[in-house]
Amino acid sequence: MYLDNILAHNREFIGSNQYEGYKTSKLPNQKSVILTCMDTRLIELLPAAMNIKNGDVKMIKNAGGLITSPYGSGVRSLLIAVHVLQAEEVLIIGHKDCGMQQLDPSFVMEQMKTRGISKEEIQTVTDDGIDVAEWLAGFETVEEAVANSVSILREHPLMPGAIPVHGLVIDPETGELSLVTRGYDA
Ligand SMILES: [Zn+2]
Repeated sequence: MYLDNILAHNREFIGSNQYEGYKTSKLPNQKSVILTCMDTRLIELLPAAMNIKNGDVKMIKNAGGLITSPYGSGVRSLLIAVHVLQAEEVLIIGHKDCGMQQLDPSFVMEQMKTRGISKEEIQTVTDDGIDVAEWLAGFETVEEAVANSVSILREHPLMPGAIPVHGLVIDPETGELSLVTRGYDA
């Protein structure tokens, strides 16, 4: 089983002291925090393309690398990184060919139904005041999505004005970065 393989590897990893190459502190050496997408292609490519090593940054990931609500867990994490963990710059990094681009919420809901989620269960979410379709919706273009996330954070009452919030798009094949918002200019 997958989990057992992980646990077996872990015993080997610990037993051979491989962790020693990763020792660092919990404060980010580069004094920055990154919000990006959970895309598999970015796990190693993004840090390599940006010269980021273990310990260098705070890294937050979600589907799309998006801020969808000013009071969601993404923004909370970014605020903690800035106010508690000494991050002095924020980078929001979307990517080309993202699964959240033009994601159709009705497709997601159909998938939920095939997994046994009933209409009634979806209704309980709606009853909690969540517009499920809106909550699951993707974005039209990644540049717009990044710019929108930057502006939600930039305008956030709890985000200090002196903290630059940058917006970028990364190519998941080559690692090439393109700039959407240069936070120093805001
Ligand atoms: Zn993505």
